[in-house]
Amino acid sequence: MSRSLRTIVVLAAVSLIAATADAPDPVGRTAVPAVAAAPRAVAELQYDPQFILEAVANRMGVTLRPDVPPPVIRLESRTPLERLQAAAERQWGFRPEVFTTMYATATNEVYLIDEARLYKRYGYTLDDSLAHELVHYIQARYLGDRFTIEWSEAEAVAIQRWFRRQFLTPRLVAVKPPRVTLAP
Ligand SMILES: [Zn+2]
Repeated sequence: MSRSLRTIVVLAAVSLIAATADAPDPVGRTAVPAVAAAPRAVAELQYDPQFILEAVANRMGVTLRPDVPPPVIRLESRTPLERLQAAAERQWGFRPEVFTTMYATATNEVYLIDEARLYKRYGYTLDDSLAHELVHYIQARYLGDRFTIEWSEAEAVAIQRWFRRQFLTPRLVAVKPPRVTLAP
């Protein structure tokens, strides 16, 4: 490689890194930070995980049993990436480069991204994201689902939406209209 060509390649690589750092990152992906990043704001659950599990089970017509252990929840902010990668590799056959949200059937774990910025940007909450993965938990542990049909994902998406509407959307206060009495 000639000296000038090498310079061009290096410059192209540098501008690519700059473009990557500036571009908006899609859900589940994190841009390479240009400088050491400040600690990320973390999203918090508004509901107890047990409440979410019961609501989801109820919606699915499943009765929870004490002999079926609930999943362990592993949040991105408190979980090494390598652990998620190992779980994902076992389930999907590849190691994702960044943290992702998933239900790991073999180890009965729910992995959840909890970066507040992403939830804010896409209008989701940690609660409805957990509801989605708990649908997969019930599918696997109670209904013998092996995730070979697309219906599993469609059902999880539908129940996630339902949970958001039901428990996370501020409701309009129903105000009774005043009774109007017509003059005789
Ligand atoms: Zn899903």
